[in-house]
Amino acid sequence: MNKAKGINTICTHVGELEDKEFKGAVSPLYMATSYAFEDVETKRYPRYFNTPNQVALAKKMAALEHGEASLIFGSGMAAVSTSLMAFLKAGDHVVFQDSLYGGTSNLATEEFDKFGIEYSFAKDAQADSFKAEIKDNTKVIYIETPSNPLLKITDLEAVAEISKKHDLVSMIDNTFASPVNQNPIDFGIDVVIHSATKYMGGHSDILAGTVISSEEKIDRIFQMAKNFGGSLSDYTVWLLERSIKTMGIRVKAQNENAQKLAEFLNSHSDVSRVYYPGLKDHPDHELAKKQMKGFGGMLSFELDEKINASSFMKSLKLIKPSMSLAGVESTILLPTKTSHGLLSEKEREKQGIKDNLLRFSVGIEETEDLIEDLDQAIKNCK
Ligand SMILES: *Cc1c(COP(=O)(O)O)cnc(C)c1O
Repeated sequence: MNKAKGINTICTHVGELEDKEFKGAVSPLYMATSYAFEDVETKRYPRYFNTPNQVALAKKMAALEHGEASLIFGSGMAAVSTSLMAFLKAGDHVVFQDSLYGGTSNLATEEFDKFGIEYSFAKDAQADSFKAEIKDNTKVIYIETPSNPLLKITDLEAVAEISKKHDLVSMIDNTFASPVNQNPIDFGIDVVIHSATKYMGGHSDILAGTVISSEEKIDRIFQMAKNFGGSLSDYTVWLLERSIKTMGIRVKAQNENAQKLAEFLNSHSDVSRVYYPGLKDHPDHELAKKQMKGFGGMLSFELDEKINASSFMKSLKLIKPSMSLAGVESTILLPTKTSHGLLSEKEREKQGIKDNLLRFSVGIEETEDLIEDLDQAIKNCK
């Protein structure tokens, strides 16, 4: 048997298309939306997810997540919605994790009633809380770990076990971890989804999504995907392949920076709390160590009450306020004013999201420069 390749080799090479004509070093880009239908093995069309560049990138995605097959979508939400709808019909029920990406939570609360799909939220990220929500008509368990914005860790193996026992499909949004830091299929999770807009793209300039699973489950998702029409254009597919070549080294640099910044903030007298799975005092540090290869580039922290979080953000010179995450540049946001702004105060309190909580997406800049920026902004706001 072939030994599995290491992450940076997969990122750089798996799925690349050979330039037979000119022997160029990178995959040629095939922009055609129209292909021959006679005397061909495959009838190709971009919305059938089978153009040369789509198929090539899907191979890389499958290898990255240790799955058998994959589909590339036009956005993370196209991957999320199509994958969920492929396994749910009227009368079925899905159990979601309590703190979900806003778009996914809106998909359930704004759309599922129309399709007669029932849903409930587990009361926290503990595996037993998912079990407690399972009913006779439950078909899917859907998790996100580390969670947004408090970086809670869900036990992958325990959720996979519960799902198998009850004959459910387990799905994970693995965006925050990236395939560099966490491969849920190794722990028995069935379906892995990414917003490729984040760590895979990595430069804050590509909108894309992907789903990875077994051949059988990907075929089922494909049957829905070709009708829903969420595929990605070949030019962006090609750019995404290019971006992923550096994902391994980017994410490892982000892991290292995030660890050092979390430790710096944790020891700062004007910071009251830091949420990062790589810290020994994180409640799920041991679990994170078991199922993650790196602790990721996302961290959150609460400033001391004396410091106004908005003024702090405005005082930063290098770290930019931004709605999104996972680029090579460091960005920061206030969940209460953005991702979690639509929740009631009571709901935010229940989830533990305070007004002075900041979510930090750590980039690849020099650690010392980031520390200096945080430190000067805190001093400026005292
Ligand atoms: C951004 C994001 C999504 C949605 O992805 P889009 O590419 O914006 O559609 C889903 N899940 C998580 C965790 C995200 O961060």
